[in-house]
Amino acid sequence: MSKAPLPTSIDTRRAAEQGRLIEGTVKLEKLSRLGSYLVDSEGEVTVDLTFGMDEERIRFVKGTAVASVKMTCQRCLEPVTLELEAEMNMGIVADDEAAKQLPRYYDPYVVDGPKQDLHQLIEEELILTLPLIPQHQDCVVKTEYGQAPEPSEGNDEANPFNVLAQLKAKKH
Ligand SMILES: [Zn+2]
Repeated sequence: MSKAPLPTSIDTRRAAEQGRLIEGTVKLEKLSRLGSYLVDSEGEVTVDLTFGMDEERIRFVKGTAVASVKMTCQRCLEPVTLELEAEMNMGIVADDEAAKQLPRYYDPYVVDGPKQDLHQLIEEELILTLPLIPQHQDCVVKTEYGQAPEPSEGNDEANPFNVLAQLKAKKH
């Protein structure tokens, strides 16, 4: 069963004081900045956040945002499906000065005003996890760029395994 939509805007400081757990999903089509890196915006992000206050009374939010997305493989230029996972462990602070005081294990989440846009937070965190050069793990380049195989009679000449098979066959 699909989870409920993630609330768009919440008071994160209050959520931390209340120790709220917020789960939900966001459709990729709603995250247009993230979408600009993707082949299409089908699918959704599953978000699981825990708000709380630690023993030093620092308000924090931690959790994960996961999504399956498609980018363009930079070797073969075909779509490649990537599993993104953003892990968050953030100290909620009012300004940059307070951000500098945070223990190192927190990333600063600077909030101004009573409400914060959770979708924007999730989108920024996911963009940070995007690979610089998306590629298939076992990408077989289907073009003749680089080491072009020798022309052979028939067959799929771009497939290096076929070329190997032919080389082996010639030895016999
Ligand atoms: Zn590829």
